[in-house]
Amino acid sequence: MAVLTLKPFSPAEIAGIGMTSQRTRDRMVGRLSGQGVQNRDVLSAMSSVPRHLFMDEAMASRAYEDVALPIGCGQTISQPYIVARMTELVLEVGELRRVLEIGTGSGYQAAVISRLVPEVYTCERIETLLDRAERRFLRLGYKNIRTRYADGALGWPEKRPFDAIIITASPEEVPPELIAQLRIGGRIVTPLGGQEADQKLAVLTRNEDGVTTNLLESVRFVPFLGGKS
Ligand code: SAH
Repeated sequence: MAVLTLKPFSPAEIAGIGMTSQRTRDRMVGRLSGQGVQNRDVLSAMSSVPRHLFMDEAMASRAYEDVALPIGCGQTISQPYIVARMTELVLEVGELRRVLEIGTGSGYQAAVISRLVPEVYTCERIETLLDRAERRFLRLGYKNIRTRYADGALGWPEKRPFDAIIITASPEEVPPELIAQLRIGGRIVTPLGGQEADQKLAVLTRNEDGVTTNLLESVRFVPFLGGKS
C-alpha cells in the first residue's frame, strides 16, 4: 500500500521554525494556562504535538494563534483552547483506556488525546480529510490511533465500551448509539445545538440509571451531519 512508504516528518519539520517553533508552541501553552486550563498532562501534550503539521503549509504560520482555521472541505480545525478544554474534560473520567472521537477533521484533537490515552478511535464522514489525517498520524509515528471512514452517529460498536467519547461537530442531540457504547461512569464531551450561534459545550455522564447532562460555556462548531459524504 502506498501509505506504507510515506516519509516520516523530519525532526526539523516537527520542531518548526519562527511562527511554528517550539517557542511559539510554548507561548500558546502559556496562554492556555492563563485561560484556565490547569491539567499539566493536557498542557504538555499541546506543547509536544506539532499543530502546524495538521493544516496546509499556507496556513501554518497561524497554527498557534487561538483561532479555528480552515482545513478544506468546508471544515475547521478547532481553536487550541477548545481542544485543551475538551481534552481536560475527557481526562476527568480518570481510568481511561479507550476513547472514541467523532469528527477526525485534521486529526489534531485525536493526536493530542493519543499522547494521554492508550487507545484512540476516530471516525470521519469526509474521506479526503480522513486520508490526510491518516497520513499525518503515520508520518508522526502516532501508532495508537485507529481511523474509520464512517458516519459517526453509528459509533464504533466492535470496540465498545468506550471510557469517553468526544464529538467535535455539533449535533442537535447526541445519537443514542453513542450513549449505548459508553461504559457506566464514562462521559461524552460534545457541543450541543445544531445552529452555530446557539451551541453549548456539554458533558453527558452515563450512570446506572441513565444519563446526566451538564451544560458549560458557549461554543461554535461545524454542524454534525448524517451519512458519509
Ligand atoms: N477534531 C477535528 C475537528 C474537525 S471539524 C480537528 O481536530 O481538526 C469537525 C469534523 O466533524 C469535520 O471534519 C466533519 O466532517 C466531521 N463530522 C461531522 N459530522 C460527522 C459525522 N456524523 N460523522 C463523522 N464525522 C462527522
